[in-house]
Amino acid sequence: MENKLKAEHLILKEEITKFLNGELSAADLKHSAAPFGIYQQRDDLFMTRIRITGGHLAVSELNIIADIIDKNNIGYAHLTTRQDIQLQGVPPENIYATIRACTKGGLPFKGGGGNTFRNIAVSPDSGIASDSVFDVIPHAKTLTDFIFTWNKAFDLPRKLKIGFASSPKDELMAATQDLGFVAVIKNEKPGFKVYGGGGMGRDSALGIKLFDFIPVEEVPRCALAMTELFYDHGDRTNRNKARIRFIVKRLGNENFLELFNEYFKKTSFAVKHFPGWELKLETKTKIFSKQSMNENWLKHAVSPTRFGNDVVSVRIFVPKGNLNAGQLRKLAEASNRYGCSFIRLTPGQDIVFPLVQRSALSELYMFLKTQLKDIDLTLESFKGHITCCLGSTVCKIGILDAPALGNELAAQLDKADIKAESYSKILDMIKISGCPNSCAGHPTACIGMQGQKKKIDDKLENVYNIFTKTDGKAFALAEAGDYLVKQDDVPDKILEILKQNFKELSV
Ligand code: SF4
Repeated sequence: MENKLKAEHLILKEEITKFLNGELSAADLKHSAAPFGIYQQRDDLFMTRIRITGGHLAVSELNIIADIIDKNNIGYAHLTTRQDIQLQGVPPENIYATIRACTKGGLPFKGGGGNTFRNIAVSPDSGIASDSVFDVIPHAKTLTDFIFTWNKAFDLPRKLKIGFASSPKDELMAATQDLGFVAVIKNEKPGFKVYGGGGMGRDSALGIKLFDFIPVEEVPRCALAMTELFYDHGDRTNRNKARIRFIVKRLGNENFLELFNEYFKKTSFAVKHFPGWELKLETKTKIFSKQSMNENWLKHAVSPTRFGNDVVSVRIFVPKGNLNAGQLRKLAEASNRYGCSFIRLTPGQDIVFPLVQRSALSELYMFLKTQLKDIDLTLESFKGHITCCLGSTVCKIGILDAPALGNELAAQLDKADIKAESYSKILDMIKISGCPNSCAGHPTACIGMQGQKKKIDDKLENVYNIFTKTDGKAFALAEAGDYLVKQDDVPDKILEILKQNFKELSV
């Protein structure tokens, strides 16, 4: 595997050298660089996307990433809504060194972008929350290892996104993947309910149910069948209609299901041993002293786990999902002292310390407060905490500056009289994407915003299409087009929607 990656990286290195010598345009470099998750930014520096399966990251890897950032003169790390880590502001001459350093550090560089199998998304509290059916991270990791050996998975008509939900509450996440698995136990056997053909972007769609139940051993076979189907039937002529959801649309649900079953039947994928470990509690023997803690921090950031009253998880609200090398190192130190050997990245662009002894909370709080001063632990303000994509100031294909709207909306929410306990709920409800590509995942939000340009009275205006899902539907995509609002008017409109539809939040 390492040799194969090295050979692929060497080919990429040649292309980067040609680009640096002016023999290749940025657009031509994109053909070979995008499948590795390497894209040029608006400022002509580059972004390199590290896939972190299920957002499950060893603490030691935080330090590796911090060292790579420093050594290669990289701007910062950005946590994505798909649980990847993007290195932003990579000088072109350091791209190759960056991807090789990541690979050597156990962060294999492949399939971060382009028409490939992308990072597998997983419920961030998998194996931790009390409603977690079982920990699905091992299945996501094992499947990733299998798929890395399938050449077709890296030569698809368009991207292939797979997700694992560890509990019924995450079913929407699974149903909006090209292939989504929801953990189920049937007759005491662990397995999955399976959805296919969902996705966000143009014509977002919920997937159709492929199986009520498959045992865990059948997961790779199911993924291989979908990969083969997509490879053979995806539209390679029109990129905008290439995702699996468009095959479903073209054939209709029943015919798609029939086609999938044909592929599934003819696919054999013998898995003799499908490793499945269950998350074990790492115990810390140290007894910590009790100090007073900020009540808001306890309210917003600390959640119960299935490991009893003495063990909690702690969410770190990362401003705009951005962290510099120093902050990454401090977080690693905090986790090593007070947490466990791994962290989880969330689709809300935050970090979770999954297992923290309750007795360690006061010391953890003091450490974070004194060592990570730029991080608003207690949600004093909404600023920097609303889930936004990078937006058009960084992203070359973006239309509007989503984080700028995020800040305007945050200022408006800060002025409103919102009770403290509603803060984190509101944060989890709102997502803003700077264009229809939906990188912030706005179609699944209770209140999602999608940036676009529209001619109004002969003037091209910045507008947001506001998606809402205000009737409490547990399993639906938000519907677009209820409101098309000029950017400046969006904060007022959102406040109005919150007041009218979410009275329990006391906005
Ligand atoms: S949603 Fe659009 S603007 Fe935002 S990061 Fe994705 S492609 Fe760029």
